[in-house]
Amino acid sequence: MAVRIDIDALRDAAGADVCAAADELTVAGQPAEIDPVGGGVTGVIHEAGQPPCEVWVGVTADGFTAECDCAADTDLCAHAVALTAAALADGFAWSSTATPRSDTAVDPRVAELTVLARALPARRLAALVAEWAATDPGWESALRAQAGHSASRATADHDGS
Ligand SMILES: [Zn+2]
Repeated sequence: MAVRIDIDALRDAAGADVCAAADELTVAGQPAEIDPVGGGVTGVIHEAGQPPCEVWVGVTADGFTAECDCAADTDLCAHAVALTAAALADGFAWSSTATPRSDTAVDPRVAELTVLARALPARRLAALVAEWAATDPGWESALRAQAGHSASRATADHDGS
């Protein structure tokens, strides 16, 4: 069943400070892309001087739900509001029974390792992933795909040398 999101109610709930920050992101063209996931929508927010944040919003049995990588202690961060605004501008068809990312079934071993990885500082985690990617072509193409780079770039670099 499709559902309508009341952006005015959402902005009221988020508060003026969060809305002002969200509007800055919107003006900066963030998120650049939105993707439907689990009946809701996800996007990555890039902010100057900040690590990128992946945020998901959707309508679940509990109502409007947001999950974000950022450490905001509020339910509704600027990333979630900016993503919602982008999805609404796009005419996204919201499902009333969305499944948040955190609820999707994950291998318990993957879940355990995810907790370990989350505890690492972003810089150390990036170095670790880069080390693996440099030695494993499968990892390298997965990393490039996640970053939105085509695998052909590596081949082109080799051809050029
Ligand atoms: Zn956030």
